[in-house]
Amino acid sequence: MKTKRQPKKVNVITLGCSKNLVDSENLMTQLSGNHFEVSHESTQAQDEVVIINTCGFIDRAKEESVNTILEYSQRKTDGLVSELYVMGCLSERYKHDLVTEIPEVDGYFGTQDLPAILSRLGGEYQHELLGERQTTTASHFAYLKIAEGCNRTCSFCAIPLMRGKHRSQSIEDLVSQAQHHARNGVKELILISQELTYYGLDLYKKRALSELLYQLADVDGIEWIRLHYAYPSKFPRDILTAMKVLPTVCNYLDMPLQHISDPVLRAMRRQITRSETEDLIKYAKDTVPNLCLRTTMLVGHPGETNRDFDELCEFVGQGHFDRLGVFEYSHEENTSAHQMEDDVPPSLKSLRANTLMDIQREISLQKNERLVGQTMKVLVESHEGEYYRARTEYDSPEVDNEVWIKAEYLRLGDFVDVEITEATEYDLYAVAKMDG
Ligand code: SF4
Repeated sequence: MKTKRQPKKVNVITLGCSKNLVDSENLMTQLSGNHFEVSHESTQAQDEVVIINTCGFIDRAKEESVNTILEYSQRKTDGLVSELYVMGCLSERYKHDLVTEIPEVDGYFGTQDLPAILSRLGGEYQHELLGERQTTTASHFAYLKIAEGCNRTCSFCAIPLMRGKHRSQSIEDLVSQAQHHARNGVKELILISQELTYYGLDLYKKRALSELLYQLADVDGIEWIRLHYAYPSKFPRDILTAMKVLPTVCNYLDMPLQHISDPVLRAMRRQITRSETEDLIKYAKDTVPNLCLRTTMLVGHPGETNRDFDELCEFVGQGHFDRLGVFEYSHEENTSAHQMEDDVPPSLKSLRANTLMDIQREISLQKNERLVGQTMKVLVESHEGEYYRARTEYDSPEVDNEVWIKAEYLRLGDFVDVEITEATEYDLYAVAKMDG
């Protein structure tokens, strides 16, 4: 009697951002479709095949990726892993160096090599799975990557080198993906891409994000749609109208500004000035009065003077932002900033980053304290100790505030109304409101 062959077990490890996570989820969907037994970041002692999806964005991310590859190479040498593959940004950018320096890896693949990885493992790309995705996030939310790559030329950014030119997915495909997610219980879609506001220009010869939003808002079961990474220059303002009109689109906008001083914005090649930025923020807040604005700033770019930094502090101190992330400049080869002198010492970069975060911490506390006593709708995410952890419409997973609720029992993935009872810089405490 023939014994049935056991499927190969594949463990996928993801490093870096949510865009990379979506690539891992697509890979996992394809692997499952090829009858592999797939896990994500399994902690089992023994794995048959490990695929590491790397990040190569800045020094710290590259270091984490290299360390992870080294850790799994050692596991392979110790006989705990049979085959080891590396994919993603780091591998796209430094394949030649990695092949020489870490030869224990059985194959290095770039950011667009999904069919090649499948074929290396003995599978093949399943076109009928397009639009389906095995998610690794909690079942109530999913990232929807609406485009890949970026056509911008920001001085400090290596992403276009690794991800190529902007390629939008069609509205039709995205709606079908959203329907698939909704059928699987997803209630919140988080729209991501390198550059959200460019969406449609390649495919439809016009910016089409608002059109996409209107169509996604019609998908049954999706209650929140959230926007991340909206480049500010030539911002399509009809997105804000869609946000105002469509209850499903969260009043939340993540618009990375990177800086506010004109000389630095020019050096960064951001194609926008301080006064245009201020005008856009004003327009956004006038159109969507309770808009939650998230941004990221980059400190220590070549040429950033004390005066530029003071201007940035003064601007952030005005309280425009509800959420803020700060990065320190990383001197990345083959970017245009790399031709400039990396003239802000590392200690000063850290000091500037910490100073900016200290300013925002105070603002965040004040904004949160204003919420005490208010009733808010939250999405319940997990049960941790004596609290349920949840998020409001104004908070994205992992990067924003969390709401800690004391309640007897709440169902994970449900929306509930809570009353905010206490606030700290980045957390809210609440009690569940009883019906009636
Ligand atoms: S828009 Fe974003 S992804 Fe594109 S080059 Fe600029 S920083 Fe990089």
